[in-house]
Amino acid sequence: MTVENPRAQGVPPNMPDYELARRRFSWASARARLEGLPGGGLNIAHEAVDRHARGPLSDAVALRFLGKRRPQLELTYAELKRETDRFAGMLEGLGVGRGERVSALAGRIPELYIAALGTLKHGSVFCPLFSAFGPDPILQRLVLGDARALVTTVALYRRKVAELRDRLPRLEHVLLVGDRDEIAAIPEVKDLRALMDAAGAAREVASTAPGDMALLHFTSGTTGRPKGAVHVHEAVVAHRETARAALDLRPGDVFWCTADPGWVTGTSYGIIAPLALGVTSVVDEAELEIDRWYGILQDQRVTVWYTAPTALRMLMRAGAQVAREYDLGSLRFIASVGEPLNPAVVVWSREAFGVPAHDNWWQTETGGIMVANFRSMEVRPGSMGRPLPGIEAAVARRDEDGLPVLAPDGTLALIETPDEQGELVLAPGWPSMFRGYLGEEERYRRCFAGGWYLTGDLVRRDADGYFWFVGRGDDLIKSAGHLIGPFEVESVLLEHPAVAEAGVIGRPDPVAGEIVKAFVAIAPGGEEGEPLRRELLAFARRRLGSAVAPREIEFVASVPRNRSGKIMRRLIRARELGLPEGDVSTLEGG
Ligand code: AMP
Repeated sequence: MTVENPRAQGVPPNMPDYELARRRFSWASARARLEGLPGGGLNIAHEAVDRHARGPLSDAVALRFLGKRRPQLELTYAELKRETDRFAGMLEGLGVGRGERVSALAGRIPELYIAALGTLKHGSVFCPLFSAFGPDPILQRLVLGDARALVTTVALYRRKVAELRDRLPRLEHVLLVGDRDEIAAIPEVKDLRALMDAAGAAREVASTAPGDMALLHFTSGTTGRPKGAVHVHEAVVAHRETARAALDLRPGDVFWCTADPGWVTGTSYGIIAPLALGVTSVVDEAELEIDRWYGILQDQRVTVWYTAPTALRMLMRAGAQVAREYDLGSLRFIASVGEPLNPAVVVWSREAFGVPAHDNWWQTETGGIMVANFRSMEVRPGSMGRPLPGIEAAVARRDEDGLPVLAPDGTLALIETPDEQGELVLAPGWPSMFRGYLGEEERYRRCFAGGWYLTGDLVRRDADGYFWFVGRGDDLIKSAGHLIGPFEVESVLLEHPAVAEAGVIGRPDPVAGEIVKAFVAIAPGGEEGEPLRRELLAFARRRLGSAVAPREIEFVASVPRNRSGKIMRRLIRARELGLPEGDVSTLEGG
């Protein structure tokens, strides 16, 4: 059942016929739709900014920033070119080299977007960090990413980075946004704006090759340290193409991607894809607040909105009548990503907005949307949709240990029967595929088997080719769309002297999808009770930041482990939820 927003009639979908588009699609022709650099190079910032700044879109608004307290600020494509030129010139002046990492830790302020695109223009690598991370995740990512420069604000520097400086000898430049006098009072930092102003005018985009590293996105692993997924300039081919097909985005649109650039969606679709398509993007600095959000959709005349299930669930709680108090007549298309989108939300969205929310699926490693409900196709509430043109997806059999099953000839055992559960796998070769985990070749190699990329997600495919998300194949937690590694949380808890053991899981939550819950066994002599529970919550929050820290802590006598000492998080989860405990034959002492 497709109920089209009546106001969208007359605007045909970018991709009217899915089957035809799949048959005709080639990445080579998608690449040819980009301009490229003279001599065959490719640079994301050229496609996103300079290309338009020199053409008919030069005076069109590229980015419109809605500040928390500041007045609205707009940057046209021509202005964005000037600002990113200066940023690139500044990096040059500082001696930051090609391929070196420039990290950013900031809320959704203009300088973050200028830093991202200016870094790419300079040929160095942009590495975003989420501003709600605490000092521990920030330190780890700056060290693992070997950051040479960091762009941040005075407030975030003082609260989170200053205490880390001694442990970051390779971080040469800390570039601050904020009040000049306050910056001048901190000796070990530099004033970003002053340096940009001094850097001077137009410059050539670095002559990067399609395969040159452009972006470094950290993502969590079940065990061990975070993984730095490496993406290259060629990714822009997929960003642009997938935004056309799956988000129905086109020049003239007003696009609002609510994701923060600290996560991959906020970079691929909050910065690069809309600019590559010559679209006007709205960026809101504030967090979700119901009237503010409806006000933005109405006042900015947003035509395409890319958001997340947690946000939609929060709006749904407030009721459809709130939506009806606003004129949302400009809204042509809504898409959602990052966590399972419950069917009830899809149905509610149709009722509240006149258009269903279109779920789509992808992950940090894929760099762009891989599976989607498209505007021209029937939306099946609860399904992630079908693979994008240019993407081959399949369902692979897993053995009891969760490993892919290989046939004797080395090919992957794929499930052809409809509705049978297995692991979602993708045929490598799309341009935004990650090219490695920085410095961890073996971990990268383990993501592939029998010529397929293993996503780690469990799915089923129905007889019509729609994919349905079943769950993650590992212990990673998705809370409000943010991927959290339990190991990172457990490690910090273990640093508290009162903690002997810690096991961390995602506990289902009706709004956030999951919340982080820690089970803690206390050290001898310690005293369980409310004061310690509060202290541990505060300790974890200070070290990890609000995005990662546990929301709940429960004391237990011990944390279940298997005989090799591995925490059995599945068992903790089953016990928490009152589910069957499954195979516990490997339980230590069992
Ligand atoms: P990240 O790498 O942080 O973007 O997280 C990617 C993971 O989020 C995927 O591997 C899935 O587990 C989950 N995810 C993303 N999109 C969806 C979706 N539409 N439905 C269910 N899970 C999703």
